[in-house]
Amino acid sequence: MTEGSGTDWMAVAADLDAADPLAGFVDRFEPAEGVVAYFDGNSLGRPVRGTAHELARFVQQDWGTRLIRGWDEAWMRWPEETGDLVADAALGAAPGQTVVADSTTVLLYKVLRALADAQVTAAPDRTQIVVDTDNFPTDRYVAEGVVAERGMELVWIEADPASGVTVDQVDAVLGERTAVVLLSHVAYRSGFLADAATITRRVHAAGGLVLWDLCHSAGSVPIELDAWDVDAAVGCTYKYLNGGPGSPAFAYLAQRHHATVRQPIQGWMGRRDPFLMGPGYEPAPGVRSLVSGTPPVVGMVPLRLSVAQLAEAGIEAVRTKSLALTDLAWQIVESWPAELGVSIASPRDHARRGGHLTIRRHDFADVNARLWEQGVIPDFRAPDGLRLGLAPLSTSFTEVATGLQAVRAHLA
Ligand SMILES: *Cc1c(COP(=O)(O)O)cnc(C)c1O
Repeated sequence: MTEGSGTDWMAVAADLDAADPLAGFVDRFEPAEGVVAYFDGNSLGRPVRGTAHELARFVQQDWGTRLIRGWDEAWMRWPEETGDLVADAALGAAPGQTVVADSTTVLLYKVLRALADAQVTAAPDRTQIVVDTDNFPTDRYVAEGVVAERGMELVWIEADPASGVTVDQVDAVLGERTAVVLLSHVAYRSGFLADAATITRRVHAAGGLVLWDLCHSAGSVPIELDAWDVDAAVGCTYKYLNGGPGSPAFAYLAQRHHATVRQPIQGWMGRRDPFLMGPGYEPAPGVRSLVSGTPPVVGMVPLRLSVAQLAEAGIEAVRTKSLALTDLAWQIVESWPAELGVSIASPRDHARRGGHLTIRRHDFADVNARLWEQGVIPDFRAPDGLRLGLAPLSTSFTEVATGLQAVRAHLA
């Protein structure tokens, strides 16, 4: 294969599709009429085929005929049960440590606040929450809120927006006052994959606890929460997990913390024996205590289907394809003439690369708008980034080549 502007990328992509063991999964998503290339599976994953049927079946049979009996028969246990499905397919976590409930933002607040409370209760001088300047806005805002409530202090790591938070940067801020470190596993802008195993070890060595935001890694990058000894994690299910717009998030809390960590929204559904309607709050045993109110049952229906499909494909195979997809995108962009002024603002190293790439050029805001009109759908990130999220199960290599050809056509 010769690289450079002379390469026939459509032919290269066709060969990659022919050799792709996961190629059959692409047709197991709902077809999207008028969409030529979808590069936003990291922002809103596509619906798995059968989602409409399953939702209709749920309405007609489960909800329609079981009515309120459905709660006792099944739905009451869905937060933990669906959490275990996600944990098994995507998180490397044994059962009984994950729930599905609320939005990512709300779960992030509950878990961060709970870990912070546990730390300052055990050691009143541990008042620092560590975050980075390039973390997703909601993570930064939630952390600002928790320190304000608890009279704690934020310690900012200045992250490079084209890469991400390094082990050395974390080491430099850790100390006797570290309470909790909150970081994204994959940076939402650059796609930088943090060294979660090493960072978790370093945080623990300093006496801190770690909370990983897995929104951009769950479903595309293998995660080993138990093996890495992570304290807690949260993440979205509507990105690479294909749960649908606003599908509820997941939270993981390691078994060892279940007896001591108390989350702040003490609702009846997280209480021991909720239907006793008894006086005073007493947390339910285990990870159930992270639940606050009535579980978002309808919102979990598509997710249960898509997570089963992910489990069938296997996260290691998904990762292999993900790296091949981003490699192809990388090679195509690199073959463009330098005078076009496009640069890549993502890590080249496979060990540090997540499932998406960001490319930059001064006029990408305009280009993005024109691409959307043609059915080529990347994502624009201010000030000049075009984000290419290549969801491995639903994206073909040909789609990558076709979409980038359309981008290239706007740059001449
Ligand atoms: C998408 C995303 C969120 C979104 O949080 P919501 O409460 O679902 O809006 C949070 N954190 C990160 C890192 C994300 O990528």
